[in-house]
Amino acid sequence: MKTFWTALLFMTLLVSCGTLSRKQETSTVKTSINQEHYINNAARPKLVVGIVVDQMRYDYLTRFYSRYGDGGFKRLMNDGFNLTNNHYNFVPTYTAPGHASIYTGTSPMNNGIIGNNWFDKFENKSIYNASDDTVEPVGTINAEGKMSPRRLLTTTVTDELELHTQGRSKVIGISIKDRGAILPAGHAADAAYWYRGGDEGTFISSTFYINELPQWVSDYNASNPSQSYMKEWNTLYPLNTYTASGTDLNDFEKAPRGKETATFPYDLPALQDKNGGYSLLKATPYGNSLVADFAIAALKNEQMGMDAIPDFLAISFSSTDYVGHQYGVNAVELEDTYLRLDLELERLLNALDHQVGDGNYTVFLTADHGAVNNPAYLQSQGIAAGYFENDALEQYLKEQLKIKYSNEKIIKKSLIVKSS
Ligand SMILES: [Zn+2]
Repeated sequence: MKTFWTALLFMTLLVSCGTLSRKQETSTVKTSINQEHYINNAARPKLVVGIVVDQMRYDYLTRFYSRYGDGGFKRLMNDGFNLTNNHYNFVPTYTAPGHASIYTGTSPMNNGIIGNNWFDKFENKSIYNASDDTVEPVGTINAEGKMSPRRLLTTTVTDELELHTQGRSKVIGISIKDRGAILPAGHAADAAYWYRGGDEGTFISSTFYINELPQWVSDYNASNPSQSYMKEWNTLYPLNTYTASGTDLNDFEKAPRGKETATFPYDLPALQDKNGGYSLLKATPYGNSLVADFAIAALKNEQMGMDAIPDFLAISFSSTDYVGHQYGVNAVELEDTYLRLDLELERLLNALDHQVGDGNYTVFLTADHGAVNNPAYLQSQGIAAGYFENDALEQYLKEQLKIKYSNEKIIKKSLIVKSS
């Protein structure tokens, strides 16, 4: 499947459990929050939990609304504030600039994260937003651990919290994607953890944050957490109830290697070897389950939200993005991933209620970007749609430059646009 994702995101949910009045207009919400926190400093939360759902479109709240339980997305929508008129003021809206902008409060021209990858004219090479040759992996020897927020040029809200409390706040970032954990956690964090697939299936970090994994992370990794999710992926509910999505079998989805059709059920153990080992779990709802498991373990073992100094747990659910890329926004696989994520959110919120207490923590949920329908699917519906032809554009530019300047070498590097 050829994909072309563009900028879409209009969704932010904010819930401050129990401390603020319900369902106010957007403009009123800000006033209410500011005044309450200004007047009564004691009302500050013990813990802030930032949740980014990678590639979540706003309409997933409404398209699947009747299918969600009361304790996940609906709890945030109905007990919190639903800010529906948000826009990103930059392109491209990929994962790295999205996470950087959410947490720095400024756009890529200032925070420096202008893409997932870009050509650095000073280093004279293409670079990845989080790569850092000056740090070492922690919890693995794989180069996937050589990551840091070094290219993030402004402070994050998590940095500001650490500065404000003289480093006494506990700040931890967690995600399947390195950039989904690192950019939200910022520079002053206690740790960021991301997923190492392949033959390991564990959470790793880098020496930017820590020199070795805490005991609880080592224990968690030693329990072989990914193996329990290496099982069949079938729909949560009967297939014929997925009426908010297209048919399971269609021409617009990409099956994993070793499987003929992109249809349920997915026998993950049988597909594992041809799809990168545990990395296969990234493009299933179980990647989100792993992140929820690990976040709840961090909450408990790091004693987050247990004293008067506010802590910050930054969680990014990446599997929604991998599933979106593999199967598209109209797929049963995608609907099933959101129905299961809803249950993981409920589990997370219940753990927060249990440990920190309803009313003592603040949660926000947003997305780093959205996604467009598969253009080939839109074309099949008679809708005007198409693909951006990178190569043709580069060729055209070269020809024009040759005509005008008699020089074909003015373009130093053409970056093929791919998103995630
Ligand atoms: Zn993303």
